[in-house]
Amino acid sequence: MAERRVRVRFAPSPTGPLHMGGVRTALFNYLFAKKNGGDFLLRIEDTDQTRFVKNAEAYIVESLKWCGINPDEGIGVTPEGPYGPYRQSDRKTMYKQYAYQLIESGNAYFAFDTPEELTKLREKGEQEKNPFVYNYKTRMELCNSLALSKEEVEKRLNSGENFVIRFKMPENQDIYLYDEIRKDVHFNTNELDDKVLYKSDGMPTYHLANVVDDYLMKISHVIRGEEWLSSMPLHVLLYRALGWEDVMPKFAHLPLILKPVGHGKLSKRDGDKLGFPVFPLFWVGDEGETASGYRETGYVPEAFVNMLALLGWNPGTEQEIFTMDELIKEFSLERVGKSGSKFDPEKTKWFNQQWLRRKSGSELAELFAPILAEKNVQASTEYVAKVCDMIKERIVFAQDLWSQGYYFFVAPESYDEKVIKKRWKADAPAQIQEFIEFLKKETDYTSATLEAKAMALIQEKQWNVGQVCNCLRLAVVGAGMGAHLFDIFEMIGKDETIARVQKALDTIKVAE
Ligand code: GLU
Repeated sequence: MAERRVRVRFAPSPTGPLHMGGVRTALFNYLFAKKNGGDFLLRIEDTDQTRFVKNAEAYIVESLKWCGINPDEGIGVTPEGPYGPYRQSDRKTMYKQYAYQLIESGNAYFAFDTPEELTKLREKGEQEKNPFVYNYKTRMELCNSLALSKEEVEKRLNSGENFVIRFKMPENQDIYLYDEIRKDVHFNTNELDDKVLYKSDGMPTYHLANVVDDYLMKISHVIRGEEWLSSMPLHVLLYRALGWEDVMPKFAHLPLILKPVGHGKLSKRDGDKLGFPVFPLFWVGDEGETASGYRETGYVPEAFVNMLALLGWNPGTEQEIFTMDELIKEFSLERVGKSGSKFDPEKTKWFNQQWLRRKSGSELAELFAPILAEKNVQASTEYVAKVCDMIKERIVFAQDLWSQGYYFFVAPESYDEKVIKKRWKADAPAQIQEFIEFLKKETDYTSATLEAKAMALIQEKQWNVGQVCNCLRLAVVGAGMGAHLFDIFEMIGKDETIARVQKALDTIKVAE
């Protein structure tokens, strides 16, 4: 058989903000598609109207866009491109025929049990510690087209009675399946129930819509979270029952992203407790509830994507920093592990730090612009870019650009007491006074020249270099940190340098 074109899909349900685990699923699908010269589709699975959240779809689209995970088809693709309609609610009428096809072939049946009746059975099962399952054991005692007479079924259907269509799970069959990540998996059909495929509201359930769409969209590989592994036998049986086995996609179930401490799946609560986001973007729900996101916390998408890629996949080398193109080149499902990977918030920060360092001054200036606007600071892009180049080694988040670089834009408002105590000794004022005279005489304010001359002066006067330079730093920065001192002088210029040093001299009292 000729190799199939690789076509994969990300198929989220719009039930809330997209979790970072979901973004990772999308990413792995995208990497796999691009690596194999295939297509990546975005399909919104919104058949469960009871869990529908209005803002969720736009959030999914925006999140993928921020990460640079661009669909070739489906929701979120520009209208000029091959556009959807890959929203299942828009395709609603199309699924019915497949549900009926399954009834005709004896693989599904009508069930008339009311929600109240089923609730009662579940409650009874709970009380008797014998959970109720709609399956091969119970189906003949329930209200469905297998148990009722043909006439009775006709009558109910003709009178417009509510019904669902259920899959008739075959009895006691061993199903041996292959998962690209988990390898051989085995199920016995007696462990499975008769899932609802088509609901009384005229909507398919996830299972039916998912399989039908994967078939119609010619999906070659289903790459999704591990929580769907238990649905795999049903999906495979649906493929078989619908006569589509020869074009059934391959399956790959991705391992869970685990809590940084303890056991289990990473949750929003872990993020709240340990102070990190679990969502890509800031989220505002339909009721106004909010949740923090990586973007607004100061992460750059390259770092977020890089971190996610290494949660579950490994390149087989020591390399840790990957661009999207490098990930595409290196990615393979063979290198996705079976076991869950612990999320590491500190490592995530490290990735951000590394990625910010790799950015050019002008790229960082773009990130800095909104922060500067908020502080009411005006400066040329060129100046801001230069500043960014000088401080990028010191930042972890975009907003650190201000805490690490404010003094390039505004004079310090206070002076660090600890530095005063340590450095502003009795002989400091006289030295700083003399230094001001030197600064006033200088005309060449380029960093290297100024430094050479200042060092010559300090040597000639036999001052303590550390003390003088720290006092000067205190004067221009207000603290014991910051960029190279003479670079700061050059950047803020002669007048501002002298004004700041003079002000420090006038304000700071010699430490006791
Ligand atoms: N709609 C399912 C979800 O929300 C998709 C699972 C799948 O990819 O088959 O994750």
